[in-house]
Amino acid sequence: MSFQNPVFIPGPTNMPEDVRKACDMPTLDHRSPLFGAILHPCLDNVRKVLKSEAAQVFLFPSTGTGGWETAISNTLSPGDTVLAARNGMFSHRWIDMCQRHGLKVRIVETPWGEGIPTARFEEILTADTGHEIKVVLATHNETATGVRSDIAAVRRAIDAAKHPAMLFVDGVSSIGSMDFRFDEWGVDVAVTGSQKGFMLPAGLAILGFSDRAVQAGRTATLPRTFFDIQDMAKGYANNAFPYTPPVGLMNGLRYSSSLLLEEGLENVFARHHRIAEGVRRAVSAWGLELCAVDASVQSDTVSAIRTPAGFDASRIVAHAAERYGVAFGTGLGEVAGKVFRIGHLGSLTDVMTLAGLATAEMVMADLGLNIRLGSGVAAAQDYYRGHALQAKKAA
Ligand SMILES: *Cc1c(COP(=O)(O)O)cnc(C)c1O
Repeated sequence: MSFQNPVFIPGPTNMPEDVRKACDMPTLDHRSPLFGAILHPCLDNVRKVLKSEAAQVFLFPSTGTGGWETAISNTLSPGDTVLAARNGMFSHRWIDMCQRHGLKVRIVETPWGEGIPTARFEEILTADTGHEIKVVLATHNETATGVRSDIAAVRRAIDAAKHPAMLFVDGVSSIGSMDFRFDEWGVDVAVTGSQKGFMLPAGLAILGFSDRAVQAGRTATLPRTFFDIQDMAKGYANNAFPYTPPVGLMNGLRYSSSLLLEEGLENVFARHHRIAEGVRRAVSAWGLELCAVDASVQSDTVSAIRTPAGFDASRIVAHAAERYGVAFGTGLGEVAGKVFRIGHLGSLTDVMTLAGLATAEMVMADLGLNIRLGSGVAAAQDYYRGHALQAKKAA
């Protein structure tokens, strides 16, 4: 790998230099007001990024996976039932975690490349007249397949079934990069991590809880200690943590979240969409297909690209790293060897993206795939030239 090249993996993402510097802090007393001056702007900014007025925001020293555990362990009891679609590696892992916690998971097996089957969810919820299902789990953006699901439609399915289940959303690879509406979509718990849209090193689980999800914790009996949101809330009330907080990372979050808000969330989303669209133009110029089955589910943060049958896609990732010092994402689970992934979220520009596309072309040509050098780059250039960023003033 070369430290000079950007990475094109869907997390951890590239870090702006000033975000890195914001993480570099001298030791400070985390029980002093100095810490509160870092903590509270983080909580306020994250709430804004989630598009929520009232969500309670929690930050744990962890990653997105710890965020999943925080969500379920604070709201559910052993034997409770949750509903989830399995359409990629990340939805699979959240399901697996629920099972290991003694929850029953009503799994809707869904082809990898498709989004959450909301009509099927509505049928299942309508049939669940005893309200066994306590929570609907939804992976907003399946990072393994580059598929974005429609969370508003999941909410409509729950409401149409007149079902009281809560809605928990894994937004690890969408929040801070693609439109996310905690309040409007009636989300009860949103989960993300520091190393994707927030452009930080890994190390923080970032969550929003609705009042209802917080209240569910009063009767839920799954064990929780490190990830107990009640302990955390008590800490926050005193400008503190129940244990030692990762102050540098949190100072980084204070800074990176303010960058997102200054750019304006709608501008951030538009930038991700543009960059992604350039990548998609390149993929189609190469004559390749996305894993995402159609345009309605294509992710603006990661593209999973199918390689021709019989060709092991992981060779692209290995060769790019060895020969050109560039990181692409490998295929996971069911699509291992069948796709390679270009991550395009976080701190990224047109110019960086063009370099990634040019590298992918060299790699594929080296490995004997029928790719004309420059074809994808030219398609992306055409798109970027014709769609210059017109930033709207942040509200
Ligand atoms: C990265 C990712 C995770 C896992 O997060 P970690 O921070 O690696 O624990 C979970 N869900 C999705 C959708 C992801 O992209």
